[in-house]
Order: sequence, then C-alpha cells, then structure tokens
Amino acid sequence: MNTSNIPVLIIGAGPTGLMAAAQLERFGISYRIIEKRKGTTKFSKALGVQARTMEIYEQMGLVEKAIAQGTPAKKLQIMVKGQYVQTMPLSEAGAGFTAFPYLFILEQSRNEELLLDYIEAKGGRVEFQTEMTSFEVKGNQTRVGIQHADGSLETIQADWVIAADGGRSPVRKALNIPFKGDTYKNIFYVVDTDVAWSKDHHSLHINLADNNFTAFFPIIDKKGTRYRLVGILPEHYSEKKDIEFDDIKNEIKRVQNLDLELGDANWFSIYKVHHRCIDRFKEGAVFFAGDSAHVHSPAGGQGMNTGLQDAYNLVWKLALVVQGKAKESLLDSYHTERWVIANQLVNTTDRVFSNVVRKGRLINWFRLNIVPFLISRLMGVKKIQQRAFKMVSQTGIRYSNSPIAVSATYLSKKAPHPGDRLPYVKVFDSTTGELKNLYHLLGEQGFHAVFWWRNNDKTEIQDAAVIETYLKENYTTVVQTHNLYDQTENSSAFQKLDLKNSTLYLVRPDNYIGYIGKVDDLDALKAYLELIFI
Ligand SMILES: Cc1cc2nc3c(=O)[nH]c(=O)nc-3n(C[C@H](O)[C@H](O)[C@H](O)COP(=O)(O)OP(=O)(O)OC[C@H]3O[C@@H](n4cnc5c(N)ncnc54)[C@H](O)[C@@H]3O)c2cc1C
Repeated sequence: MNTSNIPVLIIGAGPTGLMAAAQLERFGISYRIIEKRKGTTKFSKALGVQARTMEIYEQMGLVEKAIAQGTPAKKLQIMVKGQYVQTMPLSEAGAGFTAFPYLFILEQSRNEELLLDYIEAKGGRVEFQTEMTSFEVKGNQTRVGIQHADGSLETIQADWVIAADGGRSPVRKALNIPFKGDTYKNIFYVVDTDVAWSKDHHSLHINLADNNFTAFFPIIDKKGTRYRLVGILPEHYSEKKDIEFDDIKNEIKRVQNLDLELGDANWFSIYKVHHRCIDRFKEGAVFFAGDSAHVHSPAGGQGMNTGLQDAYNLVWKLALVVQGKAKESLLDSYHTERWVIANQLVNTTDRVFSNVVRKGRLINWFRLNIVPFLISRLMGVKKIQQRAFKMVSQTGIRYSNSPIAVSATYLSKKAPHPGDRLPYVKVFDSTTGELKNLYHLLGEQGFHAVFWWRNNDKTEIQDAAVIETYLKENYTTVVQTHNLYDQTENSSAFQKLDLKNSTLYLVRPDNYIGYIGKVDDLDALKAYLELIFI
C-alpha cells in the first residue's frame, strides 16, 4: 500500500471543503482534498448566499461570475393564509453596510461549481470517488486510510487535517467527539418546482397557515417561475414510505390557502432537522469545519454560509503556520472565534424554529395574528431592521473574545473595535483619483497596516515612519502599509469609523480588524505582532 506525507488533507468536498481548498490555493499551500462522491452536488440544496460570503467571493475575484448566475432577493413578503400582511425591503436595511445589501439566491450546486472552477484554474484538483476508510491519530501523526475509485488503497500522513465531511462526519465519529443537541420531531419537505401565480419572482415569500408554513425562495430560470418551497410535511404522511411530491401537492395548496398551480418536482426531498454543535473545533491537528461541526435548521439560510466562513477563517491562519511564519498558537483562535458563532447560531435558529413549528391553538393564533403585526412594527424601526440585516447577512459577526483582537488605545462605543469586520467604507485612492471600496484598496492577501491620519503632528509622523521602517524590515512579506488622510473625500469614512485622532489599524487577511493602536506606538504594535508571528 502506498503511503504519502502531505502538509494538509481536506476530507469532503462540499462547499466547506471546496472553500478550504480554494483558500489554500490562494495562499499557495500544498494540500490534497478527497471526496467520495463522483463530482459536485447535482441538487440545489442551500440557496441563500449571504452578503458576507459575497464579500469573500469578491476578494477571490468570483463575485461577477456568481452574480451572472443568480438573483438578488430584495424583499421579504409575509402572507397569512394567502393574504399579504407585510413587505420588508432587504436592500434598504443593508444599504451602507456592504456592497451586497441583499440575500443572493444561488444554488449550492452552482456555488460548488464556482469554487471547483477556481481550484482547477489555479492548477488544483479534487480527488473525487476517493473515500476515507480509516482515521487514526498517533502522537503528532494523523494517518488517514483512503480508497481510490479503482479500489486501490493508500495511507496519507498529514500534518493537518480539515474535516469538512458533513453532518455525519466519519472523522468526528472516529475521534469519539460528541455532537450535542437534538432532532426536531417534524418532518420537512423541500421541492424545486414551477409556481404559476401572480407574485413577484425577485422576492422571498413566506405564507403562514394553521400550524404550518410554506417558504418560497426564487430560483433563477429563463421563465421566471421556478421556486424552492420548504414546509412541514402534513402529519398523516409522516409514516408513509416513498412519498412523492404529487402526494402532497394539493395538500400544500389547500392547507396554505394559496391561489397557485404547482408544476412537477425538479428535486423533492424530505428530511428531519437537527440542531447540534461540537464542543471543540480543533482537536490536536484536526480542524472541524461546516456541517461536521454544527448543524441547524435551514431557516435563515445560514448553514452553507457558516461553513464557507469557517474555512475562510481557518485557512489564512493555517497557511501562515505551514509557511513557518506564524506560531502554532494562532490556530487556537480558530476555535475561539468560530465556535462562539456556531453555538450562538444553533441556539438562535433553535429558538426561532421551535416557535415556528410548535403546535397548539394559542401559539397558532399568536403566530397568525400577532407575529406579522410585531414584525411589521419592529421592522418599521430602522435600527432594528439594520441589526437584523447584520445578523442574517453575517456582516455583523464579531470576534471580540479572540486572543488576537487587541486594542492599545481608547475607542468610543461607536468606533469599530478589534475583532470586528472592517466596516464597508469608501476612501480616496490617490493613484486613480477616485473613491474606492477600502476592501479593494487593500487588495488580495496578507495583513494591512492602515494609518488613518487625522492631523499633521510632526512628532507623530516621524514616529510612524519608524513603525513603517520596522514593518518593512521585519514583516515585509506579510504586512503591507497604507496611508489614508482626513481630506474631504475621506470625511465620511473618518466619521463612520469615529476617528478622532490619528490611528493605526492592523487588518487581517480576512478583512477583520486585529489591532487598533496609536500611529506612534511601536511597542504595542510589536507586542501584537509577536503574539502571531515567529
Ligand atoms: C434542503 C436544504 C436546504 C438548505 N438551505 C440552505 C440555505 O439556504 N443556506 C445555507 O447557508 N444552508 C442551507 N442548507 C445547509 C447546507 O446545505 C449545508 O450546511 C452545507 O451543505 C454544508 O456544507 P459542508 O461542506 O460542511 O457539508 P456537506 O455539504 O455535507 O459536504 C460534506 C462532504 O463530505 C463528503 N464525505 C463524507 N464522508 C466522506 C468520506 N468518508 N470520504 C470522503 N468524502 C466524504 C460527502 O460526500 C460530502 O460531499 C440547506 C440544507 C438542506 C438539506
């Protein structure tokens, strides 16, 4: 049997594994990725691509391809028994927070293809029809047995393993790691079908009915009639085997009191929803990412996006460690940062979802009569609208508890703090003379030291020059420097960031703020860099 030694092995090529591989390609790290399926998924599965994922796609140069294949959902329309009671504009709530103020609809199958194309264009390869058959950890060594499509066996010894092997994760099972949580009693159906009705195809529609609901997500197609429907399977079908869409079609119309015609099923499936999370995202040299680490209800369209962002958060850290530039302790921040997010997500979706599916006359009355009214009142308040957008779009995710989020200066409540995503601001680009999204100005990779200049204090400028020289001499391959001045074109950025004094941001490769300090405080900056780099 063949034995190979490699730095990184990814197990599973769903969206999470593919994102991990794509990021490793970006950072030029050698790896292998194995997947037991023949290719990417043929099913639409996850549909909602959140704004934060679009920002990542943009950084990877993929966003235009994504936009060409999908459609933004700009409104959420709520119906009660077929009658509209509330319309929520998604784009207004997100305006100013991101370049993508909407929920983007693009099937999981297309997201997977997008990432696979990226990997292949960079010269990488996914080893399809290759299954992990055994997994053991001995001391510092991880030995993974795999079987190729032709039946041949191989053992891979990997320094690091990314377990992106889905909700049933064989790696998690091999390591005996509990997947704590529960399974909801209800059975759900999901179907992709044509809907003949008079409603707008660029909106999400949710219809609330007696002890049930149907969500309609638009899917892009030539006729503009295709939707993904999700709802609760009528109870009397729960024991029935081999249910088909035709069995429940009329029932959906009747229970939901909807005036529509449903076409044939392009994809139909029934499933139970789980809400579970592991306690540790890192176990020695093994990282869990995506559904192998957390599963929850598809309500809110968070699952695929969270997996993509797990991989995105992990890989820049892993790349620096594999390249021998960063300390191994940097990798612990993957668990600290992502576990909190996943755990919160599992709990929040559980609370919302339990109330949506709970049975009973009182709760049913409350859902149909009070909830739409409450949503309407709450969403009328701009601040609440914005908060909801930030939460659902994942642009509001903060890593405040991270060991690599450090502040060395006073920051107002309004100002962003270390551990926050770098806010979406436009700044003056002196090379083109135009206003530019700061993310674009920072460019593709690495850390960025951004000096925000509030005044022309000569001593500060001299001391900052010492910092620039220090960075050039010691961190030239990992930190780039940028200077931004308080001129008219930048006034809205300075206001948004509440910059009262000249300030230095150290922005991480994932566009999160790692450090904020004074522009002339070399000691504090040194201490921060020594926390991360060798
Ligand atoms: C009906 C439905 C609707 C959804 N809607 C949304 C939505 O709108 N938005 C959203 O964000 N999420 C949604 N989700 C959730 C989303 O599909 C998952 O969160 C996402 O697929 C997780 O990706 P993953 O890569 O972590 O895991 P998976 O997609 O499960 O990938 C794991 C991969 O590992 C492979 N694998 C497993 N064992 C082995 C082995 N031994 N050897 C080799 N390979 C192996 C599997 O074949 C699989 O390809 C939805 C899910 C469903 C079912």
